[in-house]
Order: sequence, then structure tokens, then C-alpha cells
Amino acid sequence: MEIAPNIHWLETSSNVYLIIDAPHVVLVDTGTPRQQDKIFTKLRQLSHQPTDLTHILITHADIDHVGSLAALYNTSGAQIMAGAASAQLISQGKSPQHMPMLVQWIIDTFMKYGAVPQEKISVFKDGETLPFLGGLQVLATPGHTLDHFSFFSPTAGVLFAGDAIDTRNGRINLTRPAITADKTAARHSAIRLLELSPAVIATGHGSPSTNHTSDQIMQLFNTLRQE
Ligand SMILES: [Zn+2]
Repeated sequence: MEIAPNIHWLETSSNVYLIIDAPHVVLVDTGTPRQQDKIFTKLRQLSHQPTDLTHILITHADIDHVGSLAALYNTSGAQIMAGAASAQLISQGKSPQHMPMLVQWIIDTFMKYGAVPQEKISVFKDGETLPFLGGLQVLATPGHTLDHFSFFSPTAGVLFAGDAIDTRNGRINLTRPAITADKTAARHSAIRLLELSPAVIATGHGSPSTNHTSDQIMQLFNTLRQE
């Protein structure tokens, strides 16, 4: 589904987004392991081959966001871009620490994903602008996990929020506290993102929010500011 001109939402176990911005074809996040065929099928529907994929942006190294990264990279050769902490985790096939203890142990013990060598990953920093969608701002948004980044295009009005913002229950909210590494940081990150007044909020889970009002944004913003 096209959520904004040339920005396509693909629902896998978590959300991934394809940005067609010639000469670039950019994927934001990769879903759980074994989603590559679904993503490549979507690319073909958009008249592109797997090798046309030029960049893969990563919000954070949770297995449901980087699970298919290695497979996608091996087929496409796309440039991977991630934050430094994510890059380190990805090179070990590990997810960041933020789950309740037992769940975290299960993830750490049984849920490894395909690793990618660190030198294959281009590391971005907060405040950088990437050459997509008229300038895609890189924003450090720790909280849900400490390695978390979001991306915002002022030109398109689209925010790729990863798990910094959640629309799982049909409302714009924070990801639930039980799986949040640092609740204060998560609140500050969400405030920073809401301040951008994004027209579209493309989240990692739940449907992308495309028809919210500025009142709804302000309401959550004010609530978070008062906490
Ligand atoms: Zn996550």
C-alpha cells in the first residue's frame, strides 16, 4: 500500500517500507527472518529487481526489524545504514536488551538472526541528512531500545518511527513500557518526534497513521510533556 507518493508499506511480521526515489530504492527495516521473498515480490510489483535495491536503513537491531537483513543484503548488495550500536549488534546477530527477563533469555538463546560483518554497514549519526525524499533526517530516538533511530523527511512529511512510536491498537502512542529499555528516554524521543508534526507516521507495528489531526498529535505531546 502506498502511504505517501513513492513510499510503500509492506506488512510482514513487522512493518517494512520501500521508498522509490530514483536513482535510489530504499528499504526501511527488514522484518523477521525469511521475509526476503515477500519483500522482493513487492519490489517486482513496483517494476524493480532485487538488485535495484540501493540502500537498507535500520531503525534498531531487534530481530523483527533486522531478521531478513543478511538475506536481503546477500541478494541485492544494497548499502546497509544503521547506528553504531545497531551495527555492532547486527555483526553478532544479536538483539538489544529491553525485554522482560525470561523473554530476553529466550531471544538471546534461541532467536539469532543472520549477522552482517560490521564493515559492510555504513554508520549514521544523529543530525545527519540522508539523500532520500528531499533530505531524510536521522534522529537518535533511544528508549524502546538504546540503539534506536528514526528518520524524517520534511519534504514528504513522513516520519519513519520504528518502535519509538506505536500504532498497534489503532492509536498513536509509545511502545508499551514492558518492552521499553529506558522509559524516560522513550518519552523524550517521542516528544522530539511529535514536535516535527509529521503528516504520516510510519511505525514498526500497527498501521501507518495517515489521517491523524494535529490535535491528536498535540494531545499526546502535552500528555508526555506533563509526565
Ligand atoms: Zn523493537
